[in-house]
Amino acid sequence: MNKKDIDAVKQLLSSPQNIVVIPHRNPDGDAMGASLAMYHYLEAIGHRVTVVAPNDYPDFLKWLPGSKCVRKFDMQNRQSKEAIDLANLIFLMDFNALHRVGSDMEQTLSQYIGTYVMIDHHQQPEDVATYLFSDPAIPATCQMVYQLLDAMDELDRIGPEIATCLYTGIMTDTGSFRFPSTTSGTHAIIADLIDRGADNAAIHQQVYDTQTYERLQLLGCALKNMVLVDTLKTAYVTLTQQELDEYNYQKGDTEGIVNYALSLRGIIFAAIFIEDAEQQLVKISFRSKGSFSVNTFARNHFNGGGHDNAAGGKSILPLDTTVSKFLNLLPSYKDALLHSLKLKRPS
Ligand code: 5GP
Ligand code: MN
Repeated sequence: MNKKDIDAVKQLLSSPQNIVVIPHRNPDGDAMGASLAMYHYLEAIGHRVTVVAPNDYPDFLKWLPGSKCVRKFDMQNRQSKEAIDLANLIFLMDFNALHRVGSDMEQTLSQYIGTYVMIDHHQQPEDVATYLFSDPAIPATCQMVYQLLDAMDELDRIGPEIATCLYTGIMTDTGSFRFPSTTSGTHAIIADLIDRGADNAAIHQQVYDTQTYERLQLLGCALKNMVLVDTLKTAYVTLTQQELDEYNYQKGDTEGIVNYALSLRGIIFAAIFIEDAEQQLVKISFRSKGSFSVNTFARNHFNGGGHDNAAGGKSILPLDTTVSKFLNLLPSYKDALLHSLKLKRPS
């Protein structure tokens, strides 16, 4: 974050604006936490603010303070477009390429001529924002929001609502503070958020202890489907549309399943392939440990991207063909896979 941009954003926010805050499509805890934290902050300092999510998000995030005010672009299209039409400032939260909002909403945004502020921690940001706060070394966009408020000398605006939103995003994007990008700085911020009113135990419970019986059955099905390619330190999981239907799949139900594959002893590369009959594609999540970059892998082969150790992608091939493509690619990464935990990631 450079001081010139921070001063410019602070200056922009010194008079009332019409603001829209946008998380990426299929928003996760970090995207919703960051968007709602920003919403509460901007409202508190006198702006007119609307959060427009491209589409719906999981029930385990619906308790977040301010969630009821969120407009969904696909379901509340007219109100969402009106808010975007009126906006002279748009915050893009937790994504760095406009196509990540989905094609309909991207089309609407292509007519927008106001200012963009982008706050994000993914690699290789697109050049779309007037003010870009981008740092792939930071584990969560919510941590960046905290750091931005700090840099603007606005930490005292953080009350229980903002603290709760930011805590949730940092918790979910760090895998509950266990991924390597979690630093002592992250923990210091978390401590401050607790002091400012985030109820850590309640937040963990809301996010992780609100599972439905069917979701756990779906998890059981996914674990049974798990395939090991242990000679290449890889494991993957598949879920067909039929299996999703059988367990009454709800948005968010498959989140985190890929981590079970990565938790196997000796496995450093994990994937989950999820069939989506309606969109006629296969949604893929990749996770890794060590230097093997799933961001590069997803970008090169599956139309996606993300971070070095957590990325996503998609395939328009049928599920079994997609898995075959994946399996056929693996041998060419043999060295990288076998040495992922030995080599330092090139900087
Ligand atoms: P997930 O696998 O949980 O959907 O996503 C893991 C990470 O990769 C997240 O940070 C997410 O934003 C990013 N990601 C997921 N899908 C895509 C995609 O299609 N393109 C890009 N660029 N990033 C993605
Ligand atoms: Mn994030």
